[in-house]
Amino acid sequence: MFDIYLDSPNLSDLEKDYLLRAVDSNFVSTLGPFVPEFEEKFAKYLNVNSCVSVQSGTAAIHMALYELGIGAGDEVIVPAITFVATVNPIVYCGATPVFVDVDANTWNIDPEKIKGAITSKTKAIIVVHLYGNPCDMNTIMKIAGEHGLYVIEDATESLGAIYKGKYTGTIGHMGCFSFNGNKIITTGGGGMIATNDKKRAEHIKYLVNQARDNFPGYHHSEIGFNYRMTNLEAALGLAQFERLDEFLSKKQLFKKIYKDVFDGIEVIELQKEYTDAISSSWLFSIKIDTKKVKKTIPEIQDKLKDREIPSRRIFKPIVDMPPYLKYKRGNYNNSYDIYERGLNLPSSTLNEPEGIEYTAKSLLEILGI
Ligand SMILES: *Cc1c(COP(=O)(O)O)cnc(C)c1O
Repeated sequence: MFDIYLDSPNLSDLEKDYLLRAVDSNFVSTLGPFVPEFEEKFAKYLNVNSCVSVQSGTAAIHMALYELGIGAGDEVIVPAITFVATVNPIVYCGATPVFVDVDANTWNIDPEKIKGAITSKTKAIIVVHLYGNPCDMNTIMKIAGEHGLYVIEDATESLGAIYKGKYTGTIGHMGCFSFNGNKIITTGGGGMIATNDKKRAEHIKYLVNQARDNFPGYHHSEIGFNYRMTNLEAALGLAQFERLDEFLSKKQLFKKIYKDVFDGIEVIELQKEYTDAISSSWLFSIKIDTKKVKKTIPEIQDKLKDREIPSRRIFKPIVDMPPYLKYKRGNYNNSYDIYERGLNLPSSTLNEPEGIEYTAKSLLEILGI
């Protein structure tokens, strides 16, 4: 049999080579040639003017908000289901998150709900391409344009995902990526901000380097941050980046296998893509008719675990976390339904196609189909 992996990183001799080159050069910290090389290659791939590397996806979102001047008294619209790291940076900036429900089919922020949440205090929308699935960006950019709002794309799960011919993370004012160990590519831990605004990118580069005015020397005209990526991390990133196409096509193959096995199965509903959108399928995700199959998601997960198949629950709606309870308003029916009935299935590129097929067929057996 084969081992099955949920979201484990895929590392090879290439990563070892790059890391050794960084060690041999003695550039392991934040100065080093791999950092600008990684940023330049990333910008070229995305076809944007500028990319700035940082320590995490969370730091990328924090810097995007900070650079756009989001602060006390401002409201930022976000979807109710996402990883908490989408939302915490809003609070770091002293602004107020405004949670809206997601669409039942795509699981992404519902543009109609965005419209209903806009007030005179709204400054920005953070959209999340959940599990790699692109949001309805045309509609969102139109709404944002009409109200003079910034759009920050949380593309931490959607590197390589395409919306109408453009990569996610390149459509809004700022795009944020993550290189945590379980994302599409990893640097061990890291992030990137992509933008077509060169001036803002230069300023972020300055901010994340302690806002240091001169080098060598110690003059700081602003409060800065220590959010720089290290040369070791960039070394790993460059190796992983060379393998991005391999990873993305594997994810597309896994998506096809899951879709083929689940085709026509009434109790399984796939996370749907918008027209002209291709999800990176970072984590292949489904909704199960738990009433009909008479099993809860944790029960199904236990049965999968018996077969050594890992799985993951959907993010809990953020409005149910103690720091965010006070921001709960309106209804989040779709978010709760996706949380109650949703499941992330094994999607690591370490998997073999046979392992994915075994997973899909095992799930049908567990559901009594
Ligand atoms: C991973 C993730 C982040 C944060 O990225 P880190 O690199 O872990 O800080 C933010 N938002 C979402 C949706 C994520 O999945």
